[in-house]
Amino acid sequence: MKVSPQNDTIAALATAQGQGGIAVVRVSGPLAPEILKRLFQKQEAGSGKPEAGNAGRSFPASCFQPPVSEWKSHRLAYGKLVSPGGDFLDQCLAVWMKAPRSFTGEEVVEFHLHGGPLVSLKVLEAAYGLGARPAQAGEFTQRAFLNGKIDLAQAEAVADMIAAQSDRALKLAQAQWQGALSRPVQELRHQLFELLVHLEAAIDFPEEEIEILDRAALSQRLEGVLRQLEQWSSDYELGRLIREGPVVVLLGKPNVGKSSLLNFLCREEAAIVHSEPGTTRDAIERVVHWEGMALRLIDTAGIREGEGEVERMGIERSRRWYEKAHLILALFDGSSPWNSEDGQIAELASKKKCLMVVNKSDLPASDRRFSFPKDIPTICISAKTGEGIRDLQTHLLQLLGVEGHLKENTLLLNQLRHKESLEKAQISLQSAYEGLQKSLSPEFVATDTMAAAQAIGEIIGEVTTDHILEDIFNRFCIGK
Ligand code: GDP
Repeated sequence: MKVSPQNDTIAALATAQGQGGIAVVRVSGPLAPEILKRLFQKQEAGSGKPEAGNAGRSFPASCFQPPVSEWKSHRLAYGKLVSPGGDFLDQCLAVWMKAPRSFTGEEVVEFHLHGGPLVSLKVLEAAYGLGARPAQAGEFTQRAFLNGKIDLAQAEAVADMIAAQSDRALKLAQAQWQGALSRPVQELRHQLFELLVHLEAAIDFPEEEIEILDRAALSQRLEGVLRQLEQWSSDYELGRLIREGPVVVLLGKPNVGKSSLLNFLCREEAAIVHSEPGTTRDAIERVVHWEGMALRLIDTAGIREGEGEVERMGIERSRRWYEKAHLILALFDGSSPWNSEDGQIAELASKKKCLMVVNKSDLPASDRRFSFPKDIPTICISAKTGEGIRDLQTHLLQLLGVEGHLKENTLLLNQLRHKESLEKAQISLQSAYEGLQKSLSPEFVATDTMAAAQAIGEIIGEVTTDHILEDIFNRFCIGK
């Protein structure tokens, strides 16, 4: 989406496409009040029932239509929508939100219609006929940002709230929407600007440098900001993991119980369970929700030499999942002897973060010992009876490193864009810090500090390019 000029009026369906209870059509821009006035006729609430003997043809005489100037902002009104050509469009609710007290900061009108796709289409066509144009994906939120109603981190939080697949991802997005990222970012920029004042003074009055610029104190403050940036950067992987949901791959030779475990964890028959080896020919993905987090569990086809073409393709996919995995659950059959294939699985798993799981604990144990690489956690379970599954869940969350954070409500940085800005800021700030240590001229230190402040400002959109904005708002759906 191009960053568009904002002097026109946009309209779109704000609710999901298809049939539903209601559909909301949103109009934003200078023409919105005029469109409301031309299309909507206020009525007394509950007066929509056609009079007896006159079904569907006219509306009660009790309807009243005050001019739009009498409308109160932010008040729902009941009435009927009629096209400029006189066609009845819908009986609905309408609300006008006077600029700047609206989501976009512009004049906004919303029609709450009966939820059929054609109803909203007809209303949109009428709005387009009166000068509005179709909104592009994310354009309402983009306008909210461009009009200073929200900052860029908040705009991204809107997209994340909509896309959230788990409680925890939603909490992250909600915290970001409420300023949990914007506030500390502003605070950090403020600190850098304060340092810049000192540096500028030292540049302007070089002969008084000692008094104005206490290099030791300045270094200390720069170091403080650097530590904070490092902390945020190091939280990123965890934040991303929680936001996107960790990928947990089940690995094991055929018949050890991978599908059974997946089914037990999902409490549904997702994968075919069969005693004949090689039943699962393709990777099966299921999402399970634990502790408010969505885990993507993948039952692979196994990573070994397959016989047929189909099995080979499945194995190839398994390899790709293996590469992507945040954690491997390596599964072994505790009731059958350990063999070289188990050894290969254990070795492959141990190259990544993994948990060794010995299944079928309900059966008599095999007398052959399992030889797992040292220091890798191992647990026994039964995918049939559920024994040890609770233990497995606890281990899994611990290994992923998310356990402690699931209880806290702190913000974790979770967007690549933010991390990239932080890294830029860190490099500039490190250079400023080293400049101070080397007693470089304050001009150099100031240039680096300014670059760091700008990089941090990118997170909240204080400094942006059209390219960044396009990237962000392209993630939205139409009508948001
Ligand atoms: P996969 O090929 O690794 O996916 O293995 P399956 O889940 O298809 O299981 C193979 C066979 O082992 C099936 O007959 C399952 O019923 C059986 N099985 C799986 N887990 C257990 C378990 O914990 N205990 C017992 N007794 N049988 C199991």
